[in-house]
Order: sequence, then structure tokens, then C-alpha cells
Amino acid sequence: MYDTQNGYSMATDAFPTLVTPNTPPFDQLELAKEAQRHVCRNSDAARKYTSFYVAGVYGGIATAYALGCSLRCIFCWSVSRDHQIGGRVSFYSPDEVLEELLGAARRKGVKRARISGAEPTLCKAHLLKLLPLVEESDFESFILETNGTMFGLDISYAREVAQYEKVHIRVGLKAGSPAGYQRRTGALGVDYKLPFRAVKNLLEVGASFHVAAMTDVRLMSAEERKLLIQQLAELSPRLAANLEEEVCDRYPSTQRRLEAAGVDIIDFFVRRKPLDPLP
Ligand code: SF4
Repeated sequence: MYDTQNGYSMATDAFPTLVTPNTPPFDQLELAKEAQRHVCRNSDAARKYTSFYVAGVYGGIATAYALGCSLRCIFCWSVSRDHQIGGRVSFYSPDEVLEELLGAARRKGVKRARISGAEPTLCKAHLLKLLPLVEESDFESFILETNGTMFGLDISYAREVAQYEKVHIRVGLKAGSPAGYQRRTGALGVDYKLPFRAVKNLLEVGASFHVAAMTDVRLMSAEERKLLIQQLAELSPRLAANLEEEVCDRYPSTQRRLEAAGVDIIDFFVRRKPLDPLP
């Protein structure tokens, strides 16, 4: 199927592009492999990107906008329409990505960089060639925002990434229970601990990282949030105390996903009371 409005062709019928209440849960490892087949080119360690620009977050950050993810979060804001992964986008080598990032950074005078819009760890060969280039560049830091799947599966991958001093990892937890994971990511709930395993692995290899979680009260119950924080605290009380709690912004792309999932959120500022101290 070809999307004339956005220029992306649907890569496969085997996985959902939008999660609805009736979507059967998928195996995220199978989806990761399917996405890798389309967005990672191992012969020259290239990856598919759509654009390079500077975003306002993190005080200004050069951003390489990639394609391909192993999840289908209902709160995702990625504008690569429904994560369709074929179509009119280009492969970029690690050298080309660095050049584009540096160009964007120079134009706006920023010193940080990241990959966004997708799962940055999906194309391992690409990332492991890009990071040493970033390390040698003028960038002061590289923020790696990940859903944790790949680092949860492969501690050696986590170790390789952790060696770079400029890399700071942000692991995004999606749920504190199997049911919550399945509902919000579309993936089988049995895999909900993979991001927690990523946290464990990153601790073990001494990575520079922190943890974020989409605990928006409109998407996650207070009970599940408590479970999530407890499980994180079992791994590291420090990480739990410093958890970055996310609130869902209603970008048009997010709104479309929420509507498909049958979730109606209204705009309001969420002010949570701090949880009771953990036992
Ligand atoms: S929010 Fe992140 S992990 Fe979830 S679908 Fe979007 S890019 Fe993937």
C-alpha cells in the first residue's frame, strides 16, 4: 500500500501500523527483525533517515530523524506515518549522518546530538560506527533515547555503547505490568520486563544513563505506576528517585494513535503528588 500524502509505503501486513483495541499483540522481536530488514543496511552500516534538524528539547539538540521501531506505542509522536518503513526515504552512512548533524548544529549553535523518531539501537552496525565518530567530533554529548529492547536482550551491545564518554542513555519504560505493556505498546505483555532488563544491564556495564517512563495519569493507573517505580527501585533506588515522568503531548501524530487505540485524553497539566517512600 502506498501513502500518497506522506510518501511511505507499507512494508508489511504482518504487523500493525496503528494499535486498536482489537489488534492482536505482536512479538516485538519479530517486528524488530522486520524493521531491521527495511531500515538497516549492513553492507555499509547505513540506516534510513528522513531529515536532520535542531529540536528545542535538551536546550537545543541536533537531531537525526530515523525510521524503524520494535514497538507501536499509542502515545508515540513520531511523524513517520504509523511507522511505515518503506518508501521515499534515504539510507545514510554513519559519516553522512555525522556530517548532517554537524551541519544542523553549526547553523543553530548547539553542541548536543541525538537520533529521534525511531528506535536508535535497531541498526547495531550503524550505531556502533556512528558513536566513535561522534566521540571524536565537536559534539559535547549524544543522547540515546531507547525503548530498551536491544540492550535488554544483549548486554554486550550495552557494554559497547557505554564505553563512549559523550553518550548518555535515556531508557523509556512503557509499563509496570504485562497488561499495561500490551495495551500501550501493542507488543506481547510477556516482554514487559525487557526494558527493566536493559536497566539492569546498563547498571552492570557502568553506562551513563537515566530512566524515563510514560506515567501520564491519563494513560497509566496509579497502581501500575507504583508497580513500575517499585520494580525500578529494586534495581536501583537512585534511578527510581530520579525517574523522569513523562506527560503525553497531543501532537497530531499522537492524537491519531490515541484515537485508533480508543483512548480519549484531554489537555491538562498533570501534577502528581509524590509517592509514599518505598518500604
Ligand atoms: S514511543 Fe519510542 S518506542 Fe514507542 S513506538 Fe515511538 S519510537 Fe518506538
